[in-house]
Amino acid sequence: MSTEVVAVSAVSAAQQPSPSTPAQQNAVEKVNLLGMSRPQMEKFFEDMGEKKFRAGQVMKWIHQFFVTDFAEMTNISGKLREKLEKICEIKAPEVVHKNYSKDGTRKWVFRVGDGEGSLVETVLIPAEHRSGLRRTLCISSQVGCALDCSFCSTGKQGFQRDLTQAEIIGQLWMANYSYMEDVPVLERERSVTNVVMMGMGEPLLNYDAVLNSMRVMLDDFAYGMSKRRVTLSTSGVVPKIDQMVKDIDVALAISLHAPNNELRNELVPINKKYPLEQLIAACQRYIAKDGNESSRKHVTIEYVMLDGVNDHPEHAQQMIKLLKNLPSKINLIPFNPFPHAPYGRSSRNRIISFQKTLSDAGFVCTIRQTRGDDIDAACGQLVGQVADRTRRAEQWKKKIAQSNEIMRSQG
Ligand code: SAH
Ligand code: SF4
Repeated sequence: MSTEVVAVSAVSAAQQPSPSTPAQQNAVEKVNLLGMSRPQMEKFFEDMGEKKFRAGQVMKWIHQFFVTDFAEMTNISGKLREKLEKICEIKAPEVVHKNYSKDGTRKWVFRVGDGEGSLVETVLIPAEHRSGLRRTLCISSQVGCALDCSFCSTGKQGFQRDLTQAEIIGQLWMANYSYMEDVPVLERERSVTNVVMMGMGEPLLNYDAVLNSMRVMLDDFAYGMSKRRVTLSTSGVVPKIDQMVKDIDVALAISLHAPNNELRNELVPINKKYPLEQLIAACQRYIAKDGNESSRKHVTIEYVMLDGVNDHPEHAQQMIKLLKNLPSKINLIPFNPFPHAPYGRSSRNRIISFQKTLSDAGFVCTIRQTRGDDIDAACGQLVGQVADRTRRAEQWKKKIAQSNEIMRSQG
């Protein structure tokens, strides 16, 4: 797929002020307001001796007008703006590479952490939908993952660290901002319509940061997204699914991948801790909570199609039994191979007949569209690319150098 490589430019430089004088370098680290939920920011203002409604004002500037400079927040007094500038900042993670494909897909590679840090990738996929254009952003929650699913390249990397709230929301902020860079501040709009927590990492193992980030996504003073348009995907951390029932109402996707415990223990090892019976019961509790108006009318079941492993007709029959009392929509995901992966992708025919068996039994069952490798890379697989960090980082450096060279030669 042909892509337009955009060299990292003023965006990251402008958003990433780095201390320049020794005095600044020694200054106390500023508080980053980017990822704060409204209650957190209200407390921050109250602790400063300010009115808590300031939180909503500042959040609107950050998340609806994509402003990172307090000087632009015109409904806040000059005195308070000065105070804010001294002690806090609005800082998205550093963009080390961005790539905007001609088909509308956009990818960013962020560096998180100090020094060399680690790289995290975020992907935005546009799609026409009956309700209009959808722009779905696939967000990462951790660098690496401790859960070691056998078909997942993030798992192969092991766990490195949790992302902070600012690093999680920073992915959404940057994706929205990318459409508005050249638009005057007061005319800016939010462009991302849907979020899926399906990038790198297990979101429920970074619970607090993910929960607060999702609160920012839903907050009318921030992104104001509908709860049906924010989806958390988990491999099945049962106690945290129950915790979510108490804390937030968003759509839930379960990475099932196998219809019996023996096979699931092999593919998704957390199944040994929380076997299928417990997982399905937790899903039932999740959708049972409130009436029809919640986003909890069903869960999405993700099922990666692995050639000869979990794609037999008997597996489809087992799925029918397993899910018979769980309102669910099933999404079959053609496996994305990665170097040294121990599996292959099920054939198209195999996937279609698996789908037919489930559809004939009354399930809504879709096959994830793969529109070329670029799009494939969006969810789950993006992690594979990040996994091979050194090689990729070298490639990005080369691409950036090349495009800088082209720009120089064009004067
Ligand atoms: N940890 C969470 C969310 C991140 S993974 C989870 O497991 O749900 C997002 C989705 O991509 C999961 O359904 C995951 O199983 C799937 N996935 C991972 N590796 C994949 C691969 N190589 N091919 C296809 N899907 C993959
Ligand atoms: Fe972690 Fe999800 Fe990959 Fe499993 S599939 S290793 S839970 S990121």
